[in-house]
Amino acid sequence: MLNVLIIGNGQCGNRVLDAINKEAFGKKSKFAKFYSKQKYKSNVETIAINTAINDLKELEFTKAKDRIHIPHLHGVGANRNVGKQVFEENKEHITRKVEDRGPFDVAFVITSSSGGTGSSFTPLLVKELKERYDFPVYSLVVLPFREEGTLYLQNTAFSLKEIRESGTDGIILADNQFLKDLGGNVQSAYDGINGMIAERMMFLLDSMDSEMMMVTDLGDFQTVMAGGAGLATIGYYRADKDLPVKTAIQNALAPSGLLFSTNIYEEASRAMVIIKGDNEYLSIDDISNEIEKLSANVGHVFKGIIVRKGEYPQVLVVSTMESASEIENLYNVAIDAIGQEREKKNRIENEKEVDKAFSKIDGLEPHY
Ligand code: GDP
Repeated sequence: MLNVLIIGNGQCGNRVLDAINKEAFGKKSKFAKFYSKQKYKSNVETIAINTAINDLKELEFTKAKDRIHIPHLHGVGANRNVGKQVFEENKEHITRKVEDRGPFDVAFVITSSSGGTGSSFTPLLVKELKERYDFPVYSLVVLPFREEGTLYLQNTAFSLKEIRESGTDGIILADNQFLKDLGGNVQSAYDGINGMIAERMMFLLDSMDSEMMMVTDLGDFQTVMAGGAGLATIGYYRADKDLPVKTAIQNALAPSGLLFSTNIYEEASRAMVIIKGDNEYLSIDDISNEIEKLSANVGHVFKGIIVRKGEYPQVLVVSTMESASEIENLYNVAIDAIGQEREKKNRIENEKEVDKAFSKIDGLEPHY
Protein backbone atom coordinates (compact mmCIF):
# COMPACT_ATOMS: atom_id res chain seq x y z
CA MET A 1 0.00 0.00 0.00
CA LEU A 2 1.30 3.43 -0.94
CA ASN A 3 1.70 6.20 1.62
CA VAL A 4 0.51 9.36 -0.05
CA LEU A 5 0.66 12.95 1.20
CA ILE A 6 -1.62 15.59 -0.32
CA ILE A 7 -1.15 19.20 0.78
CA GLY A 8 -3.43 22.06 -0.29
CA ASN A 9 -1.91 25.54 0.09
CA GLY A 10 -4.00 28.73 0.14
CA GLN A 11 -7.69 29.04 -0.63
CA CYS A 12 -7.67 27.31 -4.00
CA GLY A 13 -5.35 24.54 -2.78
CA ASN A 14 -7.53 24.04 0.30
CA ARG A 15 -10.72 23.81 -1.76
CA VAL A 16 -9.32 21.40 -4.31
CA LEU A 17 -8.05 19.26 -1.43
CA ASP A 18 -11.51 19.40 0.14
CA ALA A 19 -13.02 18.27 -3.17
CA ILE A 20 -10.62 15.31 -3.19
CA ASN A 21 -11.62 14.41 0.37
CA LYS A 22 -15.27 14.74 -0.68
CA GLU A 23 -14.70 12.45 -3.66
CA ALA A 24 -13.04 9.97 -1.31
CA PHE A 25 -16.20 9.78 0.80
CA GLY A 26 -18.15 8.78 -2.29
CA LYS A 27 -21.11 10.76 -3.53
CA LYS A 28 -23.73 8.80 -1.70
CA SER A 29 -25.29 11.44 0.50
CA LYS A 30 -24.39 14.62 2.27
CA PHE A 31 -24.22 12.66 5.52
CA ALA A 32 -21.62 10.29 4.10
CA LYS A 33 -18.81 12.10 5.85
CA PHE A 34 -20.34 11.31 9.23
CA TYR A 35 -20.59 7.57 8.85
CA SER A 36 -18.59 6.48 5.81
CA LYS A 37 -14.95 5.61 5.60
CA GLN A 38 -13.01 7.40 2.90
CA LYS A 39 -12.49 5.12 -0.06
CA TYR A 40 -8.80 5.81 -0.51
CA LYS A 41 -7.02 2.59 -1.40
CA SER A 42 -3.71 4.00 -0.33
CA ASN A 43 -2.82 5.38 3.04
CA VAL A 44 -3.58 9.02 2.23
CA GLU A 45 -2.79 11.91 4.57
CA THR A 46 -4.22 15.31 3.68
CA ILE A 47 -3.13 18.70 5.05
CA ALA A 48 -4.71 22.10 4.29
CA ILE A 49 -2.45 25.09 5.00
CA ASN A 50 -3.61 28.70 5.00
CA THR A 51 -2.95 32.12 6.48
CA ALA A 52 -6.64 33.00 6.27
CA ILE A 53 -8.60 31.23 9.02
CA ASN A 54 -11.93 31.76 7.24
CA ASP A 55 -10.74 29.80 4.19
CA LEU A 56 -9.92 26.88 6.48
CA LYS A 57 -13.25 27.12 8.32
CA GLU A 58 -15.09 26.91 5.01
CA LEU A 59 -13.79 23.37 4.34
CA GLU A 60 -16.41 20.66 4.69
CA PHE A 61 -14.69 17.35 4.13
CA THR A 62 -11.21 17.99 5.55
CA LYS A 63 -10.84 17.06 9.19
CA ALA A 64 -9.99 19.76 11.72
CA LYS A 65 -6.74 17.99 12.62
CA ASP A 66 -5.74 18.23 8.95
CA ARG A 67 -5.95 22.04 8.86
CA ILE A 68 -2.94 24.18 9.68
CA HIS A 69 -3.57 27.83 10.28
CA ILE A 70 -0.53 30.09 9.96
CA PRO A 71 -1.65 33.32 11.62
CA HIS A 72 -1.03 36.47 9.62
CA LEU A 73 -3.78 39.07 9.99
CA HIS A 74 -6.27 38.24 7.25
CA GLY A 75 -4.03 36.38 4.84
CA VAL A 76 -1.24 37.86 2.75
CA GLY A 77 -3.37 39.83 0.26
CA ALA A 78 -1.85 38.43 -2.95
CA ASN A 79 1.55 39.79 -1.91
CA ARG A 80 4.07 37.03 -2.54
CA ASN A 81 6.89 38.81 -0.73
CA VAL A 82 4.83 38.81 2.45
CA GLY A 83 3.82 35.20 1.78
CA LYS A 84 7.41 34.05 1.46
CA GLN A 85 8.41 35.79 4.66
CA VAL A 86 5.48 34.23 6.55
CA PHE A 87 6.47 30.79 5.26
CA GLU A 88 10.08 31.23 6.39
CA GLU A 89 8.90 32.24 9.86
CA ASN A 90 6.67 29.16 10.13
CA LYS A 91 8.48 26.51 8.14
CA GLU A 92 9.61 24.46 11.14
CA HIS A 93 6.01 24.26 12.35
CA ILE A 94 4.79 23.17 8.91
CA THR A 95 7.49 20.60 8.23
CA ARG A 96 7.03 19.11 11.71
CA LYS A 97 3.38 18.42 10.84
CA VAL A 98 4.52 16.59 7.71
CA GLU A 99 7.20 14.70 9.63
CA ASP A 100 4.65 13.54 12.24
CA ARG A 101 2.53 11.87 9.57
CA GLY A 102 5.19 10.30 7.39
CA PRO A 103 6.96 8.40 5.99
CA PHE A 104 5.56 8.86 2.49
CA ASP A 105 6.13 7.32 -0.94
CA VAL A 106 4.85 10.29 -2.89
CA ALA A 107 3.49 13.79 -2.26
CA PHE A 108 1.26 16.20 -4.15
CA VAL A 109 1.15 19.90 -3.31
CA ILE A 110 -1.87 21.78 -4.66
CA THR A 111 -2.02 25.55 -5.13
CA SER A 112 -3.25 28.35 -7.32
CA SER A 113 -0.43 30.14 -9.13
CA SER A 114 -1.92 33.57 -8.68
CA GLY A 115 -2.96 34.27 -5.08
CA GLY A 116 -0.62 35.17 -2.25
CA THR A 117 -0.39 32.32 0.25
CA GLY A 118 -0.41 29.20 -1.91
CA SER A 119 1.74 30.61 -4.69
CA SER A 120 4.46 31.75 -2.30
CA PHE A 121 4.33 28.82 0.15
CA THR A 122 4.39 26.11 -2.53
CA PRO A 123 7.85 26.61 -4.10
CA LEU A 124 9.43 27.01 -0.65
CA LEU A 125 7.59 24.02 0.81
CA VAL A 126 8.46 21.78 -2.14
CA LYS A 127 12.11 22.81 -1.83
CA GLU A 128 12.03 22.03 1.89
CA LEU A 129 10.44 18.59 1.30
CA LYS A 130 12.93 17.73 -1.45
CA GLU A 131 15.86 18.66 0.77
CA ARG A 132 14.59 16.57 3.68
CA TYR A 133 13.13 13.48 2.00
CA ASP A 134 13.66 11.11 -0.91
CA PHE A 135 10.09 10.74 -2.11
CA PRO A 136 8.89 12.46 -5.31
CA VAL A 137 6.94 15.69 -4.83
CA TYR A 138 4.50 16.75 -7.55
CA SER A 139 2.88 20.17 -7.75
CA LEU A 140 -0.68 20.59 -8.98
CA VAL A 141 -1.00 24.21 -10.06
CA VAL A 142 -4.27 25.97 -10.92
CA LEU A 143 -3.87 28.87 -13.37
CA PRO A 144 -6.13 31.94 -13.07
CA PHE A 145 -8.94 33.27 -15.22
CA ARG A 146 -7.07 35.72 -17.46
CA GLU A 147 -9.40 38.60 -16.60
CA GLU A 148 -8.66 38.41 -12.87
CA GLY A 149 -6.18 41.27 -13.03
CA THR A 150 -2.54 42.23 -13.36
CA LEU A 151 -1.42 41.14 -9.88
CA TYR A 152 -2.68 37.61 -10.40
CA LEU A 153 -0.97 37.37 -13.80
CA GLN A 154 2.25 38.73 -12.38
CA ASN A 155 2.11 36.27 -9.48
CA THR A 156 1.49 33.41 -11.89
CA ALA A 157 4.53 34.22 -14.01
CA PHE A 158 6.86 34.28 -11.01
CA SER A 159 5.34 31.45 -8.98
CA LEU A 160 5.24 28.97 -11.86
CA LYS A 161 8.91 29.63 -12.58
CA GLU A 162 9.80 29.28 -8.90
CA ILE A 163 7.81 26.04 -8.54
CA ARG A 164 9.63 24.67 -11.57
CA GLU A 165 12.95 25.58 -9.98
CA SER A 166 11.97 24.28 -6.52
CA GLY A 167 13.11 20.73 -7.23
CA THR A 168 9.54 19.48 -7.83
CA ASP A 169 9.37 16.22 -9.77
CA GLY A 170 6.77 17.67 -12.10
CA ILE A 171 3.95 20.17 -12.41
CA ILE A 172 0.41 19.13 -13.28
CA LEU A 173 -1.46 22.09 -14.76
CA ALA A 174 -5.15 22.85 -14.46
CA ASP A 175 -6.33 26.07 -16.05
CA ASN A 176 -9.42 27.87 -14.74
CA GLN A 177 -9.65 29.89 -17.97
CA PHE A 178 -9.53 26.84 -20.22
CA LEU A 179 -12.01 24.92 -18.11
CA LYS A 180 -14.39 27.90 -17.99
CA ASP A 181 -14.16 28.31 -21.75
CA LEU A 182 -15.34 24.73 -22.09
CA GLY A 183 -18.67 25.86 -20.70
CA GLY A 184 -20.39 26.43 -17.41
CA ASN A 185 -20.94 29.64 -15.48
CA VAL A 186 -18.28 31.12 -13.25
CA GLN A 187 -20.38 30.83 -10.11
CA SER A 188 -20.43 27.07 -10.27
CA ALA A 189 -17.11 26.95 -12.14
CA TYR A 190 -14.99 26.55 -9.00
CA ASP A 191 -17.00 23.60 -7.74
CA GLY A 192 -17.07 22.06 -11.20
CA ILE A 193 -13.35 22.55 -11.78
CA ASN A 194 -12.44 21.30 -8.30
CA GLY A 195 -14.61 18.24 -8.85
CA MET A 196 -12.91 17.56 -12.19
CA ILE A 197 -9.48 17.74 -10.57
CA ALA A 198 -10.63 15.59 -7.65
CA GLU A 199 -12.00 12.73 -9.74
CA ARG A 200 -8.78 12.66 -11.79
CA MET A 201 -6.63 12.61 -8.66
CA MET A 202 -8.67 9.76 -7.17
CA PHE A 203 -8.30 7.74 -10.36
CA LEU A 204 -4.57 8.47 -10.45
CA LEU A 205 -4.11 7.27 -6.87
CA ASP A 206 -6.15 4.19 -7.68
CA SER A 207 -4.00 3.42 -10.72
CA MET A 208 -0.77 3.72 -8.78
CA ASP A 209 -1.95 1.37 -6.10
CA SER A 210 -4.19 -1.37 -7.44
CA GLU A 211 -3.99 -4.91 -8.65
CA MET A 212 -4.53 -4.50 -12.36
CA MET A 213 -4.70 -6.83 -15.27
CA MET A 214 -1.90 -4.90 -16.89
CA VAL A 215 -0.14 -2.78 -14.37
CA THR A 216 0.99 0.77 -14.15
CA ASP A 217 2.49 1.90 -10.90
CA LEU A 218 4.18 4.79 -9.15
CA GLY A 219 7.39 4.07 -11.08
CA ASP A 220 5.62 4.48 -14.44
CA PHE A 221 4.02 7.70 -13.26
CA GLN A 222 7.46 8.97 -12.22
CA THR A 223 8.89 8.13 -15.65
CA VAL A 224 6.04 9.91 -17.43
CA MET A 225 6.37 12.97 -15.20
CA ALA A 226 10.14 13.10 -15.76
CA GLY A 227 9.57 13.54 -19.50
CA GLY A 228 9.13 16.74 -21.46
CA ALA A 229 9.41 20.24 -20.09
CA GLY A 230 8.39 19.35 -16.53
CA LEU A 231 4.77 20.28 -17.23
CA ALA A 232 1.91 17.83 -17.45
CA THR A 233 -1.82 17.64 -17.59
CA ILE A 234 -4.49 15.03 -16.98
CA GLY A 235 -7.34 13.91 -19.20
CA TYR A 236 -10.33 11.86 -18.15
CA TYR A 237 -13.52 10.38 -19.52
CA ARG A 238 -16.22 8.36 -17.83
CA ALA A 239 -18.80 6.67 -20.08
CA ASP A 240 -22.30 6.71 -18.64
CA LYS A 241 -23.51 4.10 -21.08
CA ASP A 242 -22.23 1.17 -23.07
CA LEU A 243 -19.63 2.88 -25.24
CA PRO A 244 -16.78 1.40 -27.28
CA VAL A 245 -13.58 1.70 -25.27
CA LYS A 246 -11.80 3.37 -28.19
CA THR A 247 -14.31 6.25 -28.07
CA ALA A 248 -13.74 6.57 -24.33
CA ILE A 249 -9.96 6.80 -24.90
CA GLN A 250 -10.40 9.40 -27.66
CA ASN A 251 -12.70 11.46 -25.41
CA ALA A 252 -10.17 11.42 -22.55
CA LEU A 253 -7.54 12.80 -24.94
CA ALA A 254 -9.86 15.44 -26.42
CA PRO A 255 -9.81 19.05 -25.11
CA SER A 256 -13.07 18.44 -23.21
CA GLY A 257 -11.32 15.76 -21.14
CA LEU A 258 -8.19 17.76 -20.30
CA LEU A 259 -7.44 20.19 -17.45
CA PHE A 260 -5.19 22.38 -19.58
CA SER A 261 -5.26 23.50 -23.20
CA THR A 262 -2.90 21.37 -25.26
CA ASN A 263 -3.00 19.17 -28.31
CA ILE A 264 -1.69 15.91 -26.92
CA TYR A 265 -0.84 14.54 -30.35
CA GLU A 266 1.35 17.59 -31.04
CA GLU A 267 2.72 18.71 -27.70
CA ALA A 268 2.95 15.57 -25.54
CA SER A 269 6.22 13.97 -24.59
CA ARG A 270 5.26 10.86 -22.61
CA ALA A 271 1.90 9.55 -21.50
CA MET A 272 0.21 7.03 -19.26
CA VAL A 273 -3.26 5.74 -20.17
CA ILE A 274 -5.28 3.80 -17.62
CA ILE A 275 -8.53 2.16 -18.57
CA LYS A 276 -11.02 0.97 -15.98
CA GLY A 277 -14.22 -1.00 -16.48
CA ASP A 278 -15.92 -4.34 -16.92
CA ASN A 279 -14.09 -6.90 -19.05
CA GLU A 280 -17.07 -6.91 -21.38
CA TYR A 281 -16.21 -3.38 -22.55
CA LEU A 282 -12.44 -3.71 -22.66
CA SER A 283 -11.58 -4.92 -26.16
CA ILE A 284 -7.83 -5.45 -26.00
CA ASP A 285 -7.51 -4.93 -29.78
CA ASP A 286 -9.29 -1.58 -29.64
CA ILE A 287 -7.21 -0.48 -26.68
CA SER A 288 -3.96 -1.50 -28.39
CA ASN A 289 -4.92 0.31 -31.60
CA GLU A 290 -5.63 3.56 -29.78
CA ILE A 291 -2.44 3.33 -27.70
CA GLU A 292 -0.39 2.63 -30.85
CA LYS A 293 -1.90 5.69 -32.54
CA LEU A 294 -0.92 7.77 -29.55
CA SER A 295 2.60 6.41 -29.16
CA ALA A 296 3.27 6.97 -32.87
CA ASN A 297 2.89 10.70 -32.14
CA VAL A 298 3.98 10.96 -28.56
CA GLY A 299 6.87 8.65 -27.85
CA HIS A 300 6.45 6.34 -24.89
CA VAL A 301 2.97 5.49 -23.64
CA PHE A 302 2.40 3.31 -20.56
CA LYS A 303 -0.92 1.53 -20.36
CA GLY A 304 -2.81 0.02 -17.48
CA ILE A 305 -6.10 -1.78 -17.21
CA ILE A 306 -8.18 -2.04 -14.06
CA VAL A 307 -11.01 -4.53 -14.25
CA ARG A 308 -14.12 -3.39 -12.37
CA LYS A 309 -17.14 -5.62 -12.66
CA GLY A 310 -20.29 -3.95 -13.96
CA GLU A 311 -18.64 -0.56 -14.67
CA TYR A 312 -18.75 1.30 -17.99
CA PRO A 313 -15.33 2.30 -19.34
CA GLN A 314 -13.42 5.11 -17.66
CA VAL A 315 -10.12 6.42 -19.00
CA LEU A 316 -7.41 8.52 -17.36
CA VAL A 317 -4.50 10.02 -19.30
CA VAL A 318 -1.47 11.63 -17.68
CA SER A 319 0.64 13.39 -20.24
CA THR A 320 3.80 15.45 -19.97
CA MET A 321 4.30 18.16 -22.56
CA GLU A 322 7.33 18.84 -24.68
CA SER A 323 6.03 22.31 -25.50
CA ALA A 324 3.07 24.27 -24.16
CA SER A 325 1.97 27.09 -26.43
CA GLU A 326 -0.66 28.20 -23.90
CA ILE A 327 2.09 28.81 -21.31
CA GLU A 328 3.93 30.97 -23.84
CA ASN A 329 0.69 32.96 -24.39
CA LEU A 330 0.22 33.30 -20.66
CA TYR A 331 3.76 34.63 -20.14
CA ASN A 332 3.25 37.20 -22.89
CA VAL A 333 0.12 38.48 -21.14
CA ALA A 334 1.93 38.36 -17.78
CA ILE A 335 4.83 40.48 -19.08
CA ASP A 336 2.32 43.19 -20.06
CA ALA A 337 0.80 42.90 -16.59
CA ILE A 338 4.19 43.28 -14.90
CA GLY A 339 4.81 46.38 -17.07
CA GLN A 340 1.47 47.86 -15.98
CA GLU A 341 2.25 47.21 -12.32
CA ARG A 342 5.65 48.89 -12.72
CA GLU A 343 4.04 51.97 -14.31
CA LYS A 344 1.51 52.10 -11.52
CA LYS A 345 4.30 52.03 -8.97
CA ASN A 346 6.05 54.89 -10.78
CA ARG A 347 2.83 56.86 -10.69
CA ILE A 348 2.64 56.29 -6.94
CA GLU A 349 6.20 57.66 -6.66
CA ASN A 350 4.89 60.77 -8.44
CA GLU A 351 2.06 60.98 -5.97
CA LYS A 352 4.67 61.05 -3.24
CA GLU A 353 5.95 64.25 -4.89
CA VAL A 354 2.43 65.61 -4.43
CA ASP A 355 2.65 64.65 -0.75
CA LYS A 356 5.90 66.60 -0.56
CA ALA A 357 4.15 69.68 -1.94
CA PHE A 358 1.47 69.36 0.74
CA SER A 359 4.06 68.89 3.46
CA LYS A 360 5.67 72.23 2.56
CA ILE A 361 3.01 73.98 4.66
CA ASP A 362 3.46 71.66 7.67
CA GLY A 363 3.86 73.83 10.77
CA LEU A 364 2.57 76.97 9.03
CA GLU A 365 -0.67 78.72 9.97
CA PRO A 366 -3.02 80.59 7.66
CA HIS A 367 -3.00 84.44 8.21
CA TYR A 368 -5.98 86.64 7.42
P1 GDP B 1 -4.30 32.36 -1.63
O1 GDP B 1 -5.32 31.87 -0.63
O2 GDP B 1 -3.67 33.67 -1.20
O3 GDP B 1 -3.27 31.35 -1.97
O4 GDP B 1 -5.06 32.72 -2.98
P2 GDP B 1 -6.13 31.88 -3.83
O5 GDP B 1 -5.86 30.41 -3.72
O6 GDP B 1 -7.51 32.36 -3.50
O7 GDP B 1 -5.70 32.36 -5.28
C1 GDP B 1 -6.50 33.09 -6.15
C2 GDP B 1 -6.65 32.30 -7.43
O8 GDP B 1 -7.19 31.04 -7.13
C3 GDP B 1 -7.57 32.96 -8.43
O9 GDP B 1 -6.99 32.81 -9.70
C4 GDP B 1 -8.86 32.17 -8.31
O10 GDP B 1 -9.57 32.11 -9.51
C5 GDP B 1 -8.36 30.81 -7.91
N1 GDP B 1 -9.29 30.07 -7.04
C6 GDP B 1 -9.70 30.44 -5.78
N2 GDP B 1 -10.52 29.50 -5.27
C7 GDP B 1 -10.62 28.51 -6.20
C8 GDP B 1 -11.31 27.27 -6.26
O11 GDP B 1 -12.01 26.85 -5.33
N3 GDP B 1 -11.15 26.53 -7.40
C9 GDP B 1 -10.38 26.94 -8.44
N4 GDP B 1 -10.29 26.13 -9.51
N5 GDP B 1 -9.73 28.11 -8.43
C10 GDP B 1 -9.83 28.88 -7.33
